[in-house]
Parts: sequence; C-alpha cells; structure tokens
Amino acid sequence: MKTARLILGDQLNIKHSWFDKTSDDVLFIIMEIRQETDYVTHHIQKLLTFFAAMRSFADSLRKKGHQVLYIKISDDRSSMSLAENLKKICRKKNIQKLEYQLPDEYRLDEQLRSLNDRLGIEIRAYDSEHFLTERFELRDFFRSKKSFIMENFYRMMRRKYDILLADDQPEGGRWNFDDQNRQKYSGEPALPEALCFKNDARKILQEIQNSNISYFGEVDPDALGWPVNRTQAKQLLDHFTEHLLPFFGTFQDAMTVASGTLFHSRLSFALNSKMLHPMEVIYRIIGEWKSRKKEISLSQTEGFIRQILGWREYMRGVYWAKMPEYKNLNFFNHRYKLPDFYWTGHTKMNCMKHAIGQSLESAYAHHIQRLMITGNFALLAGINPDEVDNWYLGIYIDAIEWVEITNTRGMSQFADGGIVGTKPYVSSANYINKMSDYCRHCYYLYSKKHGDKSCPFNSLYWDFYQRNRKLLEKNPRVAMINRTLDRMDHDMRDKILAQAQYYHENLEDL
Ligand code: FAD
Ligand code: SF4
Repeated sequence: MKTARLILGDQLNIKHSWFDKTSDDVLFIIMEIRQETDYVTHHIQKLLTFFAAMRSFADSLRKKGHQVLYIKISDDRSSMSLAENLKKICRKKNIQKLEYQLPDEYRLDEQLRSLNDRLGIEIRAYDSEHFLTERFELRDFFRSKKSFIMENFYRMMRRKYDILLADDQPEGGRWNFDDQNRQKYSGEPALPEALCFKNDARKILQEIQNSNISYFGEVDPDALGWPVNRTQAKQLLDHFTEHLLPFFGTFQDAMTVASGTLFHSRLSFALNSKMLHPMEVIYRIIGEWKSRKKEISLSQTEGFIRQILGWREYMRGVYWAKMPEYKNLNFFNHRYKLPDFYWTGHTKMNCMKHAIGQSLESAYAHHIQRLMITGNFALLAGINPDEVDNWYLGIYIDAIEWVEITNTRGMSQFADGGIVGTKPYVSSANYINKMSDYCRHCYYLYSKKHGDKSCPFNSLYWDFYQRNRKLLEKNPRVAMINRTLDRMDHDMRDKILAQAQYYHENLEDL
C-alpha cells in the first residue's frame, strides 16, 4: 500500500513523528502553488523565504532517506491547485491513502476536508505537533465568557506547563512585569548588528518572475536575510539569547529611527513555519536566565515567554474559537480605502514613513510599530478592516492568517468589538513621542492639535472617540476619555474636529 503525506509550506517541523522512520511505501508531497502565492499579494521576501525554506526542508527529508515529491512553482505540469495536483499524483502513483497535518488556516482546513469527496481514497489528519494548546482549548477554557482575557489564559498556560513557577506561585511573586518593560530607547545600550543571513535566492526569484506572480517590496536576492532552515533558525535563537534577551523586555515597546528591530528576536518566521518549536524556545530562554541571572533579569525573561506561551497560543485559540465569522467583523463599520502611502512609504508623517518604509524594505516591523503606528493610524482614519488585513497579510514575513487576522482585525482594529482587546488601541502623538524619537524630525508638530502642521494623530484621535461615542459608551475603559471630551473648551473641540475632517478628506496628502 502506498501512502501520500502532504506537507504544507508552514509545516516544516523536522521533529514531527512522521519523520522518525523511513518507508518505501510513504511518499511526502510538498508543493509551491498559485493558490498560495495569489490569495493576497505578498512581499517578495515572504515568497522567497517560504519557497527557500520548503526546498531546504525537502532536501533534509531526502537526506534522511525519505521519498519526496516536490512541485516547484516553475513546474508546468502543475495545475497550481492543491486538490487538482493531489488528484493527479494519487492517480499516477496509485496512492491508496492520503495523510495530512492539521492546517492552521480555516480556508485550508475546509479545503482539505473536502478532499474526502474528491479523491475517493482513505484520508487521515494528524496533529502538527507544534502548538501548546489544542485547537479548541481556549474556547473551552473561556466557555460562555464574552471577552477572552489573555492574562487568565496565560496564567493557566504557566501552570499547565509549569513555567516560571515556584511552589505553584509565579516566580518573583508576580505574573507580570509590564511596568518595568516600557522604556524609551535613547541609544544606550548600543544595539548589536541584526543577524541577517546571506541566502542566495536568485534562482527562485527568476522562477517567480517567469511565472508572472504579483508581489511588492524590496529584496537583495543574493542575500535573503531570513532563516531558511533549522540550522539558521537555531542561529537566530542563539543570537537573540546572547545579545538581545538581556534588554528585550525593557525596550519591548520602544521605537527609534536608528533601528527597526531594536531588541526583538525576529523569530516569528522560524516559529510560524515550525522550524522551531515554541517549547524549545521557552526552555532555552529559561535556561539562559538561570545561568546568566546577573545579566538577564526575570522581567526580560517573563516578558519574552509571555509573548510565546501567552499571546501566540492565545491568538491561535481565538482564531479557532471565532472563525469563520471573525473574518467579516467590522464593529465600527469602517469603509475608507487604505491610503496609497501604505504601499510606498511616501508620507510626511515620520513615524508612518519609518514603519512602512522598513516593512517594504525588510518585510518586518516589530509589534508596537504594527500596533501603535500603522494599525493606530488605520483605525483612527476609519479604514476598512478588509483592506487593513490584506496589507498585514501580504507585507510581513510571519503573516499567516491565524495570527495575522487576530492581531489585525482583533487587537489592532477592534473590529471584533472587544473579544481580543478590552479597549481600542489608539493613541495621539503623545504616546508616539513618549516611546520613540520619530516626532523629533517630523514635518508635523506632535504638540499641536489643530491648524497648520498639527499632527494628524491628535485630531484624528479625538474625532475617533467623538464619532464612535455611541458604540463605546458602555465600555468602562473609555469613560474617562469621553469625560475629557465633554470638558474640553467647545471652541477648541470644534477646531480639532474640523481639523480631523480636513485630514479625513485629504488622507492621501498626509
Ligand atoms: P518578538 O517581539 O521578539 O516576540 C517573540 C515572539 O513572540 C514572536 O516571534 C511571536 O512568535 C510571538 N508574539 C509576540 N507578540 C505576539 C502576538 N501579538 N501574537 C502572536 N504572537 C506574538 N505576528 C505573527 O507572527 N504574524 C502576523 O501576521 C502578525 N501580524 C500582526 C499584525 C498586527 C497589526 C499586530 C499588532 C501584530 C502582529 N503580529 C503578528 C504579532 C507581533 O507583532 C509579531 O509576532 C512580532 O512583531 C514578530 O517579531 P519578533 O519575532 O521579533 O517578535
Ligand atoms: Fe507621527 Fe505625529 Fe510624531 Fe509626526 S508628529 S512622527 S506624524 S506622531
């Protein structure tokens, strides 16, 4: 009997039990197909990195003695659809059983389920052996609750895996060290150079171009910087623990023109493609903290572990609890088009210019740039969340729907009405100036609320609360903002709202 085992592009987990033994009766199938390159327009680095990592994974399997059928994007025998290709392969190779690992995206899950009818052979799904929770564990944990409080979920996860606990209590007497983790970066300590690999991606780029696949963004195809195999993924983890972890938490929310990465790990692609296992990363961080306590404080350690054990698993849980409805939520009924400068970086707003410019250049922005700069602006400006989602899903190296949509539509755009966040993540220039050096060199004046050169974030911020007053009036965390609006000098308030109106009408010129 011949069994085919499908491996998706984000299932590059060499430690999966599938690969423990080799067998002549098992054929592994990996495909580069148009349905994946075309469901949204991707950054070129994202396309290249996925394909390079998939090709390298196929080589590792072959080296271990497995049989692999790899379909390249340039293969003209490919029908470019997952189902059609599988149908052809199963017929040609006389495959009697198809096995796959549970995909992380709803759309692929539906598609793979529907294969039962189309292939007429036995089909079996396996766990991907990557995540630390079952698909529906978060839904069951919160049962009938309206909002899912991340902190409660995170504490459950710490207990479930016995992470940073001493006698069942949190290490250091606290679950959370956020108050120590909100510093601005003023040039000290010096930033180590980011670890960027020099992978040769010229051949893949040529194949992508010959296939007329649409893409955007910049790349040096002689030096693709992202990890494309497990060795490089582990090197990136080494680099992070050695140089960046000691300051990770402290400068987690900081932004600077001097660096787009600061002390962040850039591990999200290695994790989301499953080259690294989240528990392997967590144990490594704890090991480093235990052996270098003078250098790495508990607040840095906990701050980082919270991202992986907490936020990452939490977002996946929300996704499976709320899809497919989640994809269409638009709490504020926002309708505006995404301004063109999201695709070019050409704007006078220095914070946006930097966050977008570096994203186009490197397919990366760190969390606060995504949340409090580009996401913040889109929400204040009232951009349609479908457009916002497509932008985030295309531009970032780590963007896969389960983690992109929950962060974008949920955390950043509050389009879910408060499932992920208890209040919209919006701010005026005040926050941006507090956490970055962007405002110092900006065309706009961060302290000005209306009039010539007034910072757009200021007037749009008040306009956001004014126009959504009814929708947010029951939210206790918004009450104080509404009171401030009420107490504001009427003449001043009118001027600010008129300024916001002007900016709404001239978004493209900002
Ligand atoms: P670090 O800051 O070093 O954090 C370490 C790891 O923690 C990350 O690699 C990631 O795996 C995990 N993590 C941290 N924050 C989150 C979070 N909020 N949700 C899930 N995991 C988290 N992350 C993605 O992986 N894919 C996305 O498509 C994505 N889209 C986002 C869109 C918006 C609007 C926002 C606000 C956030 C998004 N994030 C996304 C979450 C976060 O911004 C990225 O995981 C992080 O910036 C990746 O960079 P890093 O590896 O240097 O992370
Ligand atoms: Fe951004 Fe306003 Fe600051 Fe300029 S002044 S960098 S637009 S927040």
